[in-house]
Amino acid sequence: MSGSLYLVATPIGNLGDISRRMVETLEAVDFIAAEDTRVTMKVLNHLGIKKTMISYHRHNAGPGGAIILERILAGESCALVTDAGTPAISDPGEELVALCAAEGVPVSSIPGPCALVNALAMSGLPTGRFTFEGFLAMNKKNRRAHLSALQYEVRTMIFYEAPHKLPTTLCDLRDAFGADRRVSLCRELTKLHEEVRRTTLGEAAEFYAEHSPRGEFVLVVEGGAAKEKPVSTLEDRLREVDILREDGLSLRDAVRQVAEREGCSRKELYDAAVGRE
Ligand code: SAM
Repeated sequence: MSGSLYLVATPIGNLGDISRRMVETLEAVDFIAAEDTRVTMKVLNHLGIKKTMISYHRHNAGPGGAIILERILAGESCALVTDAGTPAISDPGEELVALCAAEGVPVSSIPGPCALVNALAMSGLPTGRFTFEGFLAMNKKNRRAHLSALQYEVRTMIFYEAPHKLPTTLCDLRDAFGADRRVSLCRELTKLHEEVRRTTLGEAAEFYAEHSPRGEFVLVVEGGAAKEKPVSTLEDRLREVDILREDGLSLRDAVRQVAEREGCSRKELYDAAVGRE
């Protein structure tokens, strides 16, 4: 008989956000897989819970995931927690969930804090349709490709960013979407110095060029006005395939992503890409 995987959301800064189900689940499981066992140990100590922990982070997702799966298939139940917020959202978990799903292992999510949802709700920007973009790549070329793929995006866009990279990211967003585009900078959510600055990309870029950002940020950017997207040429699509391949994707996956995005034939694009190699 197989056990289950529980994705347990943890606070993003305020221990008051610990839920009863989170505590019950952490108490009930056989073991906890944690992104950083030292961080999770602090939460467990706060709750007075003693439980076996193993490490599961982005650098051991392959072997770590296989060990967790084996234990679950042998009948144990596992809670996956990350340092803060919801597992699998810009945090370890996505691969483990896919692995469990492929093996028919039941996966439950114990809901709780998630910075992007909090930020969107507080942003004052349209919430009906949005797209979560996570972190922009560090590599300049991939960053440009990511932003250029959002050129015609009409939905509200949500980005995560580390404070030391915020000034550069704001300049890149301003250059991609224009200085007048509205942005809500949601800082230190759920913490003592929680703040939402509702402004424009131009003003935000200027402000943070002169003041160093402190704390954690989510950027919620207004979507653009609807305009017709020009039809891309085969050359454009092959260039996008190349960028994704440099990012580490297989040819097949890169072709699939570009074909879906551009609404063109996957086979034709694949044949054209192979024809060049
Ligand atoms: N899994 C987490 C979640 O559910 O939100 C996200 C983890 S990701 C590694 C960390 C990023 O989330 C930070 O760089 C920041 O953009 C955002 N974040 C996390 N906590 C935050 C907070 N209290 N206030 C603002 N942003 C936060």
